[in-house]
Amino acid sequence: MFDDLADLYQQLILDHNKRPRNFRVLPDANCTAQGANPICGDNYTIYAKMDGDVVKEISFQGSGCAISKASASILTESLKGKTRAEVKNLFDKVHAMVTTGNLDGDVGKLAALAGVHKFPVRMKCAILPWNAAMAALDGKGETVSTETEKE
Ligand code: ZN
Repeated sequence: MFDDLADLYQQLILDHNKRPRNFRVLPDANCTAQGANPICGDNYTIYAKMDGDVVKEISFQGSGCAISKASASILTESLKGKTRAEVKNLFDKVHAMVTTGNLDGDVGKLAALAGVHKFPVRMKCAILPWNAAMAALDGKGETVSTETEKE
């Protein structure tokens, strides 16, 4: 039973790595932040379009290992439509799950990342996109990146 679940999670991660969702620049993003993990070479930018307190659109760009890319891809699927408070709540759950392997409540597909707690080096890869997303949303609507210029 557990092996089946582990297989399923592994497939989910491989699938998201191969076909990352929301993998694009968001031209009208009003919150962006970059996250880098020099140890692994992961480097991503998270783009979010906030409508008041709600994540209207969220996407990412960059490159890195399978875990970080899958984590970023599942993150974008998970955060769309959520408020800042809901995002923070989910971030806390994911952070606890990745560092301890324990699941606290329903995190949906994000449960696929629970296995990384066995690999301390991979924890940073899984959490990196989340740190970037939190930094983006904490920008209170300001663009923290200088990369995007409005036409
Ligand atoms: Zn990595």
